[in-house]
Amino acid sequence: MDEYLQAAIDEARQGVAEGGIPIGSVVVHDGKIVGRGHNRRVQQGSTILHGEMDALERTGRKPASFYRDCTLYTTLSPCPMCSGAIVARSCSTRFRGS
Ligand SMILES: [Zn+2]
Repeated sequence: MDEYLQAAIDEARQGVAEGGIPIGSVVVHDGKIVGRGHNRRVQQGSTILHGEMDALERTGRKPASFYRDCTLYTTLSPCPMCSGAIVARSCSTRFRGS
């Protein structure tokens, strides 16, 4: 299995271990994971903290050119909110499962 998808799955498992929803994501730049996260809606009482948003947030604020070279791996097809965030940053996306 692709190591980045495996990392996203590992994040999803961590979310389950925390009592949350099993969705994980990682952001990859130049072959390196620069951000990882998982759905934290239950844990944080959040309406927007999806796995993709968490991974992007944890990547930190970077220039637009940085995101153009990133790929976001996620364990679920992104929802419209996350798709918008991904498109706005020009990341490419790969997902597995649903
Ligand atoms: Zn979403």
